[in-house]
Amino acid sequence: MAASHTFAENLAAADQHLARFAAVPLGHFINGETVSSASGATFENRSPVDGSLLGSVAAGDDTDVARAADFADDAFGVWSSMAGTERKRILHDVADLIVERQHEIAITECMDTGQTMRFMGAAALRGADNFRFFADQAPSANDGLSLPSADHVNYTTRHPLGPVGVITPWNTPFMLSTWKIAPALAAGCTVVHKPAEWSPYTAHLLAEIASEAGLPAGVLNTVHGLGESAGKSLTEHPKIKAIAFVGESSTGSLIQAQGAPTLKRVHFELGGKNPVIVFDDADFERAVDAAIFMIYSLNGERCTSSSRLLVQDTIYEDFTVRLAEKMKNIPVGHPLDPASVIGPLIHPHHHEKVKRYLDIAQQDGAAVVQGTPWGDAPANGCWVPPALFTGARNDMRIAQEEIFGPMLTAIPFADEADAVKLANDVEYGLAAYLWTRDVGRAHRVSHALEAGMVWVNSQNVRHLPTPFGGTKSSGIGRDGGDWSFDFYMETKNIAIALDTHAIPKLGG
Ligand code: NAD
Repeated sequence: MAASHTFAENLAAADQHLARFAAVPLGHFINGETVSSASGATFENRSPVDGSLLGSVAAGDDTDVARAADFADDAFGVWSSMAGTERKRILHDVADLIVERQHEIAITECMDTGQTMRFMGAAALRGADNFRFFADQAPSANDGLSLPSADHVNYTTRHPLGPVGVITPWNTPFMLSTWKIAPALAAGCTVVHKPAEWSPYTAHLLAEIASEAGLPAGVLNTVHGLGESAGKSLTEHPKIKAIAFVGESSTGSLIQAQGAPTLKRVHFELGGKNPVIVFDDADFERAVDAAIFMIYSLNGERCTSSSRLLVQDTIYEDFTVRLAEKMKNIPVGHPLDPASVIGPLIHPHHHEKVKRYLDIAQQDGAAVVQGTPWGDAPANGCWVPPALFTGARNDMRIAQEEIFGPMLTAIPFADEADAVKLANDVEYGLAAYLWTRDVGRAHRVSHALEAGMVWVNSQNVRHLPTPFGGTKSSGIGRDGGDWSFDFYMETKNIAIALDTHAIPKLGG
């Protein structure tokens, strides 16, 4: 387990595992081989810890995407016609190899993204769980319903769509890509994956692992590159039947427009500004800990982070004081130090964006409480201590915009109606968290919240059979359970007559 390694062991492992990326530019993974871009173009990948160069990466364009799509199309016949039990076996082998290489995946992810080892070891294992969960459903993915009528036997079957595109963001990139890729492969689709340009490395490890596990060449291809070139080409390619996208809401709009001429089926998991609502009858300490966990874990770079804290005015002062006390103890530090909770943010651009909200909060009239910075933070890294904004109103930018960093906006509310109004008064609708011991209120408020997912008296605990996704600007479609298969498969109805119904005679 990654958690049992010391900081020194993790640093040594990072030297070992990242050397390959520094030695030669990382290529695309197409048809079972690592290849350069046809143009020879590359882009730099730098460490969020200190800005040093980690290596360079192939910058894909139309030509590379077309190559990957052609191979994915060729491989579709073999993969989709393979017995579901065989696909299940291979995908379990992928999961086994992920577990075997967990430490390497976690180390690589930490150095590439700035996320801390405390969370990335478990995230790698969640990647394996995603493969196992969907692998187990591969043998029954084609099953349909029997819907008999008086004169016909109707039954449905499901068929994989064909080659699909998966476009992923830079926050917990390994785990998130397995969540999309595993069901696509289990359904019988082939995949072209375009990982985020700020975190390209673990996508390559996944492709390498899948190939080693026996996935036929061309079934999973990875094309690196910028969103506006490689990503855009993928969304426009006629052989790509659907796009599963995780990222910003504004990018989702672009993808929908880019995919329109080829009528792409799309599945979007987008941004969030998720409320955690705390009533004065809640379990105070559990609510404080859960609110802290949901904004300050994963550097706050988390779509389901509880970034708006709505607290009943009767306990607002006590709650925010207690939360601030604990927040100041959260260790910021090197991502490979097992003691660190918060590491550097992903990239200087994102770092600048997040830091700007410290000024925006003050300009808007909120009070800013800052956590404890890391005294030894290397220069040129993307370091920011956690922060809490108190005395905020819901119409402030810090309450409406997705900051995507370790910053929490706390707003008081008066009663149930006020809490629901504030919670829903935002463009997003991904997740909501609700703390109350009143059972009736728990149900009433859950029903009234405009969110795809509501957790009551709980932080985000993912259960793979349940639907995951958002409403409003937070997404289109659901993941998890059978919802993933519905997206990656086409349903067909077959109606067979019992030869009892009348056929109209036209023309004599
Ligand atoms: P982003 O939208 O900037 O980029 C995501 C991916 O899209 C990257 O691979 C990028 O290269 C690609 N891309 C960019 N422009 C494109 C285009 N025109 N055509 C095709 N592809 C394009 O998002 P990000 O900054 O990498 O990630 C952070 C965002 O992701 C946040 O808004 C966060 O809330 C969201 N997110 C949502 C979920 C969820 O489940 N709802 C999960 C994780 C992250």
